[in-house]
Formats: sequence, C-alpha cells, structure tokens
Amino acid sequence: MSFDCDVAVLGTGAAGLVAALAAHDAGASVALFEKAAVVGGTTALSGGVCWLPCNPVGARAGLSDSREEALAYLESLSHGLIAPELAEALVDGAKPVLDYLEQHTPLRFQVVPIPDYHPERPGGKPQGGRSIEPGAIAFDELGPWADRVGMGQFSDPVTGDVYLTTLDSPRGGGSGRIDDAEMARRRQHRVNGRGRGMVGGLLKACLDRGIVPSTESRGTRLVVEDGAVVGVQVAIDGALREVRARRGVVLATGGFEWDPALRAAFLRGPMSHPASIPTNTGDGLRMAMRVGAQLGNMREAWWMPAAQLPGQQQYGEQKVALILRERALPGTIIVNREGKRFVNEATNYNAMGGAFHALDSARFDYMNLPCWIVFDRRMIEDYGFLDVPAGGAMPDWVPSAPTLPALAARLGIPAGALQATVARWNTLVDAGHDGDFGRGNSAYDGFNGDLRHYPGKASTLGRIERGPFYALPLESSTLGTKGGPRTNAHGAVLDVDGAVIPGLYAAGNVMAGPTGMVYGGAGGTLGPAIVFGFNAGRHAAQRVSTPEASALV
Ligand SMILES: Cc1cc2nc3c(=O)[nH]c(=O)nc-3n(C[C@H](O)[C@H](O)[C@H](O)COP(=O)(O)OP(=O)(O)OC[C@H]3O[C@@H](n4cnc5c(N)ncnc54)[C@H](O)[C@@H]3O)c2cc1C
Repeated sequence: MSFDCDVAVLGTGAAGLVAALAAHDAGASVALFEKAAVVGGTTALSGGVCWLPCNPVGARAGLSDSREEALAYLESLSHGLIAPELAEALVDGAKPVLDYLEQHTPLRFQVVPIPDYHPERPGGKPQGGRSIEPGAIAFDELGPWADRVGMGQFSDPVTGDVYLTTLDSPRGGGSGRIDDAEMARRRQHRVNGRGRGMVGGLLKACLDRGIVPSTESRGTRLVVEDGAVVGVQVAIDGALREVRARRGVVLATGGFEWDPALRAAFLRGPMSHPASIPTNTGDGLRMAMRVGAQLGNMREAWWMPAAQLPGQQQYGEQKVALILRERALPGTIIVNREGKRFVNEATNYNAMGGAFHALDSARFDYMNLPCWIVFDRRMIEDYGFLDVPAGGAMPDWVPSAPTLPALAARLGIPAGALQATVARWNTLVDAGHDGDFGRGNSAYDGFNGDLRHYPGKASTLGRIERGPFYALPLESSTLGTKGGPRTNAHGAVLDVDGAVIPGLYAAGNVMAGPTGMVYGGAGGTLGPAIVFGFNAGRHAAQRVSTPEASALV
C-alpha cells in the first residue's frame, strides 16, 4: 500500500486531526500517521476546552470581546516571549477555524463560563467567554474506531463510563447530574464529551473523507530534496517506509516532555511527572532540528501541579492526578520543606510552575520542591478530595496524623514552622484577606473553590483546624511542553536564518507556542493547537511545490 500524498500529517491529537481535515478540504490528498496504537494523543485525555479570544461562540452567547482587548491581554503577559504576528494569527484565526469545524465536522461548540486565568490584566475577561468546548459526540458512529480513541481505560469520574461535557459539570455551571433517560441515551450511543468527544468528532470527519489514520506508524526523518521537505520516513510494522508528500509535511507530534534528555536540555526548571501520553518524546522536534529549524520557547511548558496515584497506571506509566480543585478549596494550603507557604495556592496551574522553579541561591537548591498540600478532616467532610467523596475515608497512602506536629514528623519538616504557618493562615482566613500571597484576590482563584461563596473570598479561604491532618506530596508536572520549531502565521517552519523551510509545517505542542509563557485561560493549549493546525493544513495544501514558489510562502 502506498501512502504517497500531497500532505503527510504526523500525530492524531487536536493539531494533527484539524490539520488533516483542513488540508483535505483545501484540495490535498492526505496521509495521517500516529505513533501510538490508538488515536487522539493527549487531546483524548483532556478536558477538550479551547481558549480562543474573539470567538464566534462567545459572540453568539452575547459576550463581548475584541481583537484589541485580546492582544492587549496577551501583550501584558508576554515578558517578551510572544511574537506579535503569532498572537495576531491566534486571535484572527479563531473565527475561521471554528466556523470551519462547525460547518464541516460534527463538532458544535458551547461557551464554558470560566474566567480568564489572569482576568485582572488589561483585556482580561473575569466573566469568561473565551473558553469554549465541543458538545458531546456519539461514538457509535465511529464503528470499530470507537475503541481506538485513547486507551479506553479512563472514564468520567461521575458517570463511571461516558464523559460528560464540562458544561454538564458544576465547574461549567451544570449540576453534574444527568436525568436517567438522557443518561441511558448517552450510554446506548456512547456519547462522550471533553477531549474524548473532541477527538471523536474530528476523527469521524476524517473517516468520512477517507482519511484513515495509520497507527503504530512513527515518523522518524524528513526527506529533503533541493532544500524542500518532500516526504517523511515512517516506521510501520518495524519497517522504514519513505512516504512522498508532494506539498508538505505537518508535524503535530506533541511535546518532548517524555524525553529526559530533551527535558534536561531545555526546560527552565524541574518537571518530573508529565500528565500527557508517553509517546510524546520530541520526535517532531528532533526531525525539525535535523533540517535546520529555528527553535523557540524551549524553556516553556504548560506547567501543572500533580500528585502520583500509587498503584495506578496510565498508558503503562505512573498515573498522576492534576491538582486543581483541591488547591482552591477552603481548608487547604501548600507548604515547602521548611513548613512554609510559598504561593497563592488557588492561582492558575501554569503560573504555579514559577514557584516550583524558584532557586534558593544561597543553598543552591529548589526552595519549593518537595512540597505538600496540607488539609484537615473538615475539608474532607465538606468537599472530599480527588475521588474521595465529601465525608469519605481517605486512602492510606495519603500521609496523615492526628496533630500537626505529628504530621510534620511524618513529612520530616519542622513541626514548629508547620504549626506557625497554619496558625498564621487561620488568622488570615479570619481577617478575610490573604495578606501574604493574595489568595482570593483574583476572580480566578475562587472559581475552582466553593462556588456557593463565589466570587467572595470565602470560596477559597477556610481555616485548617480539625484533625486528623493530611499532607499529599505534589509534583511539578506538565500537560505538555510548548517549545519547538518556530513558525510563521501559516504554521510554516522557519530555519535558523528566519527563512521558511519549504514544505515543513508544525502545529500544537510541537511548535514554538504562540503564547510564550502564558496560559490565557481554560483551553489555553487546545485553542492555539486547532488554529495553527488549521492554518498549517490549509496552507500546506495550497502550496505549490516548486522551489521558486516555495520561496514566496
Ligand atoms: C488530563 C488533561 C486535561 C487537559 N485538559 C485540557 C483542556 O481542557 N484544554 C486544553 O487546552 N488543554 C488541556 N490539556 C492539554 C492538552 O491535552 C494538550 O496540550 C493538547 O492535547 C496537545 O495537542 P497536540 O495535538 O499538540 O498533541 P497530542 O494531543 O498529545 O497529540 C500528539 C500525537 O502525536 C503522536 N506522535 C508523537 N510522535 C509521533 C511520531 N514520530 N509520528 C507520529 N505520531 C507521533 C502522539 O502519539 C500523539 O498521539 C489537558 C491535558 C491533560 C493531561
């Protein structure tokens, strides 16, 4: 079987699937390769939320946004790492990609009313409107592919099987409960929301067009002739095949977070337990480096505090839980080995990466690793923790003790310091103001906390006082890295001198992220991934593969 085509796409996460569709619908024949045995990449594990300023979905719902506000917001958070032309491409690209997806695939988007992650910055949106998600998708329309989206071993924590959308859940404003008849319908037709639904909808559109992913097919090297990328070597069933791609190759291979050498070479600080799929080992980065790509944003990742779940595996690796809601709930703080708080615990996860990377210059050691999230029994009674429901029994593997000094002894941290930190915290809670780290000051902070008190600070400020006390170790994790080959607004990869490498494109976490250090809001990774996937696929399809014409793009 020949895979020769106009456009070859490597990777079946959101970036790759959208690139494949865009290339096809712009007139190209497409070959789609996936290294794993299943499709969907980290996207299938994700919440499926996309952050896209100036999107038509928010506009439909009557929410206001403007190009100027969106660019001002990104610029205020850039620290010199955001290329203005890519920020503009992101903002200007939201409407075309969403119009396209809603008209040409089963995906229909809805607003998830989550505040931007830095809502008080210029152009920020405390009411949300930029975070959107696809509605749920019936997997029974995928035929045998329904069982090949992700590894299938994960399930919605509420339903135990099919995934609800974020809008169904309390975080999205829903109740988290679906009436029995509707739930029966969803089970019968395997209706999934979140990232699973997103991949399902994109995959359905691919299959409808005859774009059938070739799984266990790992892109290894780009084929270059006369300075242009004209194909890619792919390892299929253990044999290397050369695939000709007349108009171009789109790298959509995710980040390099699972490659220890690349991590050590590039990331700005410690990152030990990625939450993404383990096939994301930087293959696309290496391919791009080999043909002289200019790199950008290499130090950055979508940082995330996480906790190891002993005895649980995901894709054959240690499973981690993202620690999001727990940090924001009243009655929790995070302390370092000195027993001291060091961060606004309820801040957005990406920004918290900065606290994990802080170096004590005198001791030449990371100040805030290891660290623990500390909470009390009342917190469990009121809210539960991870999968433990409110009032439930905590698992044995979460260290606990009847008193704070005994807990400190278990952790090997100074007992007096931990007691003093908790006493100080309780004073701040009573005063209704975290004068130390500003927890609760931002409209974002309490959003993941106790929504009954939101937007008041009581949504996230709460005393720690009733034993037993608990302390779960936190890890510096990531949803994926976001450094790689630099591109122009079309997703065309640039060489070390800034010229386009004809025929080479990148989208998603493999590319130098268009938002620099920033996680704009919920969906901050998938929004750019679908915009640049769309731009790259469409542009590659329209590219004329002569060296003279290539030089113009
Ligand atoms: C639990 C969780 C929840 C998340 N929720 C959200 C959310 O709601 N919103 C959001 O914006 N982000 C979210 N993220 C992050 C988001 O999932 C990723 O940033 C995003 O999916 C990246 O998309 P991608 O297409 O670049 O990569 P991926 O989806 O990871 O896809 C890359 C694909 O490339 C394949 N590949 C790798 N190397 C090769 C090769 N050599 N040849 C062929 N194929 C290859 C991989 O196997 C993989 O399938 C979440 C992440 C996690 C872990």
